Amino acid sequence: MKAIVIGAGVAGIAASIRLAKKYDSVTVLEANGYAGGKLTTLQLGGYRFDAGPSLFTMPHFVDELLNLAHKRPAFSYLKKEVVCKYFFDDKTEFTALADPQAYIDEAAEKLGARRDLIEGYLENAKRKYDLTAGIFLEKSLHKWSTYLSGETIKAIAQARKLDLTESLNEVNTKRLEGNPKMVQLFNRYATYNGSSPYLTPGIMSMIPHLEQHYGTYFPSGGMVSITNALVNTAQSLGVEFKFNTKVTEIVVENKEAKGVKVNDTFLPSDIVLSNMDVVPTYKKLMPTQKAPAKTLAQERSSSAVIFYWGIKKEFPQLDLHNIFFSADYEKEFKEIFEEKKAPTDPTVYVHISSKDEPKDAPKGCENWFVMVNVPSNTGQDWEAERERVRQAVLSRLNKILKCDIEALIEEEDYLDPTRIEERTSSFQGALYGAASNNKFAAFLRHPNFSQNIKHLYFCGGSVHPGGGIPLCLLSAKIVADLVPVPHVQK
Ligand SMILES: Cc1cc2nc3c(=O)[nH]c(=O)nc-3n(C[C@H](O)[C@H](O)[C@H](O)COP(=O)(O)OP(=O)(O)OC[C@H]3O[C@@H](n4cnc5c(N)ncnc54)[C@H](O)[C@@H]3O)c2cc1C
Repeated sequence: MKAIVIGAGVAGIAASIRLAKKYDSVTVLEANGYAGGKLTTLQLGGYRFDAGPSLFTMPHFVDELLNLAHKRPAFSYLKKEVVCKYFFDDKTEFTALADPQAYIDEAAEKLGARRDLIEGYLENAKRKYDLTAGIFLEKSLHKWSTYLSGETIKAIAQARKLDLTESLNEVNTKRLEGNPKMVQLFNRYATYNGSSPYLTPGIMSMIPHLEQHYGTYFPSGGMVSITNALVNTAQSLGVEFKFNTKVTEIVVENKEAKGVKVNDTFLPSDIVLSNMDVVPTYKKLMPTQKAPAKTLAQERSSSAVIFYWGIKKEFPQLDLHNIFFSADYEKEFKEIFEEKKAPTDPTVYVHISSKDEPKDAPKGCENWFVMVNVPSNTGQDWEAERERVRQAVLSRLNKILKCDIEALIEEEDYLDPTRIEERTSSFQGALYGAASNNKFAAFLRHPNFSQNIKHLYFCGGSVHPGGGIPLCLLSAKIVADLVPVPHVQK
């Protein structure tokens, strides 16, 4: 049995590892000259940056894959004691600590939060996760067997406890009795899947549980070490990677995928797995096949403008992850999702890997990955938007850090929705595929298999169960369970 995987994003690599355990031959065809897609790295002078994802949660999903290698590659990570540092517009500072009791003490002291409310909130988040993860995240939602399990029946019976009908903001306001800073802090978790807290359903309030319970981590060598370790594992199992190889067509005959074409060369295979965004997979690789129009028309998640800044100074008040909140969060999301423009006063995220990996920046300096959420690309003038965002970011950072940041920048590059789309084929440059701005979003994501074309499968951030590294890894696992099993397993 031979499998072809289109794309070496984190999900494509993970799927190739699992398929190599079943199939004789697995080939990954990647358009870029490097693996990882969004999960890659950037070097500017003496500064190294994590180019895309920066928050590493649920490392056991990566470990599970590395343990499949004949010889497990070197891969280590550090558990963070400080999850994130928050800086509010009125200059209040809050350090979110990993230890739950310390977190609650700090929230009570700095943000005037009620201890019992936060404890209750986190317990409720855990209950929601335990009730739904096995169904919504770990199985196909498009197979009847999922709905016939006892686990699903239990979740459906308790559906009203999942807060599906209210928005995350409504749930947070109610559960935290309107404490504005705690509400803003917990509303931020909507951005973990590129959605608006004022639109996404309250079930998203389970996300803080993942951060507080499972913890946050930093991989030694930076986020790209995840990509490198997974590629090593795949290669150790015989997976072949072909870089600079852009698939131009999925060959379908009699409603069955027969292989792919790279320009005029036909590469046959028993199954085809696309890790390319599902929208261009249909539109560019099989334009004559019937596409699931409603699924593909889903609103896209947010995108981002990122500045990579080499900063010739150290800031002891900052940590690996830092958030500088905007003054008016509701306005910010209205601008992103309704007006489809970059926010005038954006919340700014600053990731500094040199805090935990000193060799990522020259001595006495720091590598700042500065990110702002913006809408996906629907034709905005990104050059103008980017310049506007840059000024707004500088003004927020200057105000809170009380210095002239621009004067400290000695290296600079950027990423924006058009570059994200060019470099990874993500439709409209969205970070997480479709947005989760309605209560049916989980069911409207494209399944991990084609309902019309036999032997065609999908994995990655644009399909079920969604974007972000942990969910991409789960999509690979779901696919590996769905593909036909050869008579003799390796
Ligand atoms: C700026 C940014 C910040 C993020 N922050 C986080 C974070 O902190 N934590 C987190 O968990 N997630 C984060 N994410 C989301 C996360 O990066 C993605 O969900 C995940 O990496 C997507 O992986 P994927 O497998 O879907 O593939 P992608 O990374 O989208 O890669 C797809 C690959 O397919 C290749 N390809 C496309 N078309 C073809 C073709 N025709 N032929 C051959 N190859 C093709 C592309 O070149 C690319 O390499 C962030 C994303 C971005 C961009």
